[in-house]
Amino acid sequence: MKNVMNRRRMLATLGGLSAALLAGAMPARADDGEHDRRPRSSTTGPVPLPVTGIKGKVVIVGGGMAGVTLAKYLRLWGGAGIDVTLVEREGAYTSNILSNLVLNGNVAMSSLSFGYAKVASSYGVKVLQANVDGVDAVARRVHYMRNGLPGELPYDRLVLAPGIDFDFPPGLTTAEAQLAAPHAWKAGAQTLALRDQLKAMPAGGTFLMTIPAKPYRCPPGPYERACVVADWLRRNKPGSKVLVLDANPGITAEVATFTRAFNVTYQGIVTYIPNAAVTTVDIGAHFVYTTFGSTPFHGDVLNVIPPHRAGRIVADAGLANDPVGKFAVVDVLSYESTMIPGIHVIGDAAATTMPKAGHIANQEAKVCADAMIRLMAGLAPDPSPVTNSACYSPITRETASWLTSVFAYDPVARAMAAVPASSGEAHAPSKDHYEDMFIWFDTLMKDAFA
Ligand SMILES: Cc1cc2nc3c(=O)[nH]c(=O)nc-3n(C[C@H](O)[C@H](O)[C@H](O)COP(=O)(O)OP(=O)(O)OC[C@H]3O[C@@H](n4cnc5c(N)ncnc54)[C@H](O)[C@@H]3O)c2cc1C
Repeated sequence: MKNVMNRRRMLATLGGLSAALLAGAMPARADDGEHDRRPRSSTTGPVPLPVTGIKGKVVIVGGGMAGVTLAKYLRLWGGAGIDVTLVEREGAYTSNILSNLVLNGNVAMSSLSFGYAKVASSYGVKVLQANVDGVDAVARRVHYMRNGLPGELPYDRLVLAPGIDFDFPPGLTTAEAQLAAPHAWKAGAQTLALRDQLKAMPAGGTFLMTIPAKPYRCPPGPYERACVVADWLRRNKPGSKVLVLDANPGITAEVATFTRAFNVTYQGIVTYIPNAAVTTVDIGAHFVYTTFGSTPFHGDVLNVIPPHRAGRIVADAGLANDPVGKFAVVDVLSYESTMIPGIHVIGDAAATTMPKAGHIANQEAKVCADAMIRLMAGLAPDPSPVTNSACYSPITRETASWLTSVFAYDPVARAMAAVPASSGEAHAPSKDHYEDMFIWFDTLMKDAFA
């Protein structure tokens, strides 16, 4: 028991959080019995900011895991002289993390919603709800649309943190088709649509899901979804199947855990097929065509997760310069684009050697904040940053597995390199890990939004 509590205390101290925050980090439950994940801190007053003498105007596009963390820490570490404007198209953020648990009813969708009032009131971040649709890197101005009207913001340094967009396959290019075969890989309406389709599926039916080729956000996430859905179907729709069509040559994360889950825990329910990249979707016939032979696969519910690219503004700004033209190559000492000086890209939109994950987005934001503050002070970025990542994967409705990695800067490769001795994964799913998952999540979200 002592070890468990020590581990929990460690989980609740991500980013050096205070004991006061820690006290509020235990899982709460909503009235309907689902976990309610929103930060409950009642502190709304301004947090004292350090006097650093550093001045600058920073605009951040995207208030997700990366963008909101950066906004907070630029002010918290850099002081009030750094004028930070966070531009986010939505009024509130919906967490993708834990959203697979909306499918089995363990977590309420509403409890994955996080607002921006706290970063505004506590740290003086200016929050603008608008859609950024252009960047003028020469004049250093960002163009946006708000309530149908255009506007612009000047910047000294710009940070793009727009997450991902999708390359939809033929048959899935219309909004109607995308709702008929929801990816639910950006949490929100798509997640609810998939949950409703799952609930309406006849017993004995097939839930067909597809996984895109790497890199995609949250490497264990799709396999976790297959497990959560299989568990729910076993209890609620006996005789139903889960068919997983993976574009990759094999399971991409926690191989032993998910192989055991598919072959033992969900034997006879989950069928896993590698090397099956989606080529076409026939919504009317409920068929998915893949590179795995010419015969299409049929599903009663189709959950097609398309290949990813950086959020559109990255390509529009001319920054999608990785070899396939999808993500932005950055200097991982500062996250500054290798294409255009003065523009940084963090989170899932950046091409790095680290996984696309919310925990990593939080870490990239902190390295970027520190580097930007140093650059604004006329100093060089820290030459040896270290980051870490954690992912918890529910395997059943009451057990979870976990995976953690540490990365350190490799000056020869000029990239973040995994530190195997400091990385690892759970030996087996457990109820303890399931509870730890909520502590980790609450701590991560408080570190970003509170
Ligand atoms: C089912 C699922 C489970 C997951 N589980 C985990 C997990 O256990 N652990 C983990 O670490 N990660 C997990 N992830 C991954 C994690 O959610 C992402 O990696 C993370 O959200 C990336 O952060 P981001 O800031 O780059 O993008 P996002 O969090 O997607 O934020 C991008 C924001 O930018 C805004 N935006 C985009 N374009 C514009 C524009 N032009 N103008 C204004 N605003 C804009 C969007 O509205 C959005 O709010 C999971 C993902 C999924 C789908």
